[in-house]
Amino acid sequence: MIQRLAILGATGSIGTSTVQVVRQHPERLRVTALAASGRRLEPLVELSRELRPAIVAVFDAAAAAELKSMLPAAADIEVVGGEEGLIAAATHPDVDRVVAAMVGARGLAPVHAALAAGKDVALANKESLVVAGRLLTRLARQRGAEILPIDSEHAALHQALRAGKASEVKRLVLTASGGPFRTRAAGTWNEISPQEALRHPTWSMGAKISIDSATMMNKGLELIEASHLFSVAPQAIDVVVHPQSIVHSLVEFCDGSWLAQLAVNDMVLPIQYALAFPDRWPNEFPALEPAALGSLDFEPVAHDRFPSIALARQALAMGESAPAVLNAANERAVMAFLNGAIRFPQIFELVADVLEGHWAEEVSDLDAALGWDRWGRRRAEEWLAGNRR
Ligand code: NAD
Ligand code: MG
Repeated sequence: MIQRLAILGATGSIGTSTVQVVRQHPERLRVTALAASGRRLEPLVELSRELRPAIVAVFDAAAAAELKSMLPAAADIEVVGGEEGLIAAATHPDVDRVVAAMVGARGLAPVHAALAAGKDVALANKESLVVAGRLLTRLARQRGAEILPIDSEHAALHQALRAGKASEVKRLVLTASGGPFRTRAAGTWNEISPQEALRHPTWSMGAKISIDSATMMNKGLELIEASHLFSVAPQAIDVVVHPQSIVHSLVEFCDGSWLAQLAVNDMVLPIQYALAFPDRWPNEFPALEPAALGSLDFEPVAHDRFPSIALARQALAMGESAPAVLNAANERAVMAFLNGAIRFPQIFELVADVLEGHWAEEVSDLDAALGWDRWGRRRAEEWLAGNRR
């Protein structure tokens, strides 16, 4: 049976890798919906020419009319704009599985809508689970929809966990590359430039997640993501630094056995896993050659230099709204760093201060989650107004 996909964030790093997977499996996958920010329209036009989707959505509503005029009239593609447009793409009747590959908490509303419509979601957009994890996992259960992780660590855990029962799991261990500053002396962190921080040692990714990897906030967000995806308490989730990014995560079982998943560090593999599940498909992607690997290294996280994972644990312990606030403050801080408004270590300060000033509450619905996201951004703005570099 052909599986029909919506790709939200089709022009980004994960979106582009998803299209590679689609090209590899024309007999299994078809793209019926595309969505992106609309900041650049040419790549969307190219993709539409190639994939012939039924609907294309852009967040920038003004760009929708321009996009329509750029598409061949004969192709009969519906073009929609704004958040409603993204939701229309995510819930289109000709879509079976939604690839959520847009960046940031903006992904939450479309992911929520897709699950509410009973669509399976292949999830790269970890921010949506950080902002509203309990809400989304509960909704998925209610609607009989699956949330299948694309994040390589979580795809690894998902695979390793198939080897045992939930009651037999002792610990989940996320691997982290450690990012570009793993060995950089702490005294020089004020001088870190955005260009240096964007240069990831093992993965090629979008700007926001690259900065998150440099601060290791990415691993903090992933810890929160894992706790929701696999219903595991934060105390039973650890992080280990593994600079080669070949072991994508590990599960420790109660009898002392460990299962790890290994693969080359290319996102096409976890994306294909999420699209093929519960099956596995052969492919022509680069394969791992163990004899060529040499040694694989593991070391503890330097929590004194990288406070992000502790901040994520703190947010989880505070209560439901706190991870949403943490995420919002981090998104704003990353943008400020990329714009040159703050220095690298100030990302930690901003996030810690905003979290410190938060009194956590339960998050009972989508509006509440989005409200806490706005609250966190507002607090971050105030912080920035008082702390320009
Ligand atoms: P990216 O910046 O390369 O691409 C982001 C995509 O989202 C683009 O297509 C952009 O047009 C779209 N987008 C941005 N704002 C939007 C909006 N308001 N409305 C609609 N679309 C919008 O980012 P990426 O690296 O592909 O990451 C995407 C997500 O996947 C992030 O949540 C990231 O954490 C996660 N992720 C990425 C990787 C990776 O290897 N790149 C790995 C694991 C998880
Ligand atoms: Mg990851």
